[in-house]
Amino acid sequence: MVTGAASEHIDINDVSFTYPRRSIPALDMVNAHWPRGVTALLGANGSGKTTLMTIVAGLRRPTSGEVSAADGTAQSVGYLPQDAGWPPSFTVGELLEYTVWWRRVPRNQRSTACRRAAEAVGLGHRERAKIGELSGGQRRRAMIAQAMVHSPRLLILDEPTAGLDPEQRVGVRETLASLKDTTTVIISTHIIDDVDRICDHVTVLNDGASVFDGDVAAFLSPGGTPASRDDGRSRMERSYLQVLADARASGTQR
Ligand code: ADP
Repeated sequence: MVTGAASEHIDINDVSFTYPRRSIPALDMVNAHWPRGVTALLGANGSGKTTLMTIVAGLRRPTSGEVSAADGTAQSVGYLPQDAGWPPSFTVGELLEYTVWWRRVPRNQRSTACRRAAEAVGLGHRERAKIGELSGGQRRRAMIAQAMVHSPRLLILDEPTAGLDPEQRVGVRETLASLKDTTTVIISTHIIDDVDRICDHVTVLNDGASVFDGDVAAFLSPGGTPASRDDGRSRMERSYLQVLADARASGTQR
C-alpha cells in the first residue's frame, strides 16, 4: 500500500515482489520517481508492468520495499486494469453513477462528475447505452471514464489505448493530456506514439528491474541523431531499444 509523504511525487523505493509458488521475482528492487504529469511505463510483456501498477494502486503489497506518495494521493487512486470488464446490462451512466457513489463523491457533485467523465472520453451522447452494446473501443473508453470519474490524484491505466483505432487513441491521449496539471497519470503502453505525444516521464522495466527512469528528454538522448539514420525506426523506438540493449549488455537482466 502507498504510504504518505510530503511530496508531489510517487516514489518507488527498492520494490520487490514474488508471486506465491514462484522462485523468480516479478519485480526485483525497482526504483522510480514519478512526478505529476504523464509517465509511460514501458517494457516487454512479462517485464513486470502490471505487477508494479497493482502495487502502486494498493491492490498488492510489495514483498519488500515501499511506495510513498503525497498526502492524500494514496486515498485518491483510479485504476484501469488491462482486462477491465463490467456487467453488460449496465448502461454507461449507471456505471459512472455507481462509481461516484462507492468512491464517495459528494452527492451534489455526482451528476456533474459523471457527465464530465463521459464527455471527456467522447461518450457524452452514449450515457444511456448498455455496456454490452458498445463497440470494443467505446467499452474501453467507458472503463477509462470509470477510472477517472472521481477526479483521482493518481490515475493508473494499464494499456489504455490498446485495441483503439487511431482516432479513438487521439481522443484518449487528449483526455490524459488535459489531466496533466492536476493528476499523476501512469500508463503502460506498447504504442510508442503515445509516449511521444503526451508523456513527460518514462520508466522502462526489463525482466522485473527498472533500467531507465527519467524525463522524455533524457530518454531520447541515447537515440542519437535521428535524421541521419534510415533504419525505419522512430527516435523514440531507437531510444527504447537502446535502453534495453544497454541493460542487457550490462547484465541488469536476470
Ligand atoms: P507485464 O505487465 O509487463 O506484461 P506482469 O507484471 O504481468 O508483466 O508479469 C511479470 C511476471 O510475473 C511474469 O513473469 C508473469 O508470468 C508473472 N506473473 C504475473 N501475474 C502472475 C500471477 N498471478 N501468478 C504468478 N505469476 C504471475
